Amino acid sequence: MKINREWHLKNKMPTNPSFEERVHWHIEHQKNCNCRPIPEKLVKEIEKKGLRF
Ligand SMILES: [Zn+2]
Repeated sequence: MKINREWHLKNKMPTNPSFEERVHWHIEHQKNCNCRPIPEKLVKEIEKKGLRF
């Protein structure tokens, strides 16, 4: 697993993020870094809402 530290420093997860903020963060995260996958719970919620990424 590789950490893109530079990306993480520039893109901090907001405090008390909304669902959309979390989804957005994880989508951008996945594009730039693969230190961890999108949490399964979040993936399920995305699918439930029919969001695409
Ligand atoms: Zn990462």
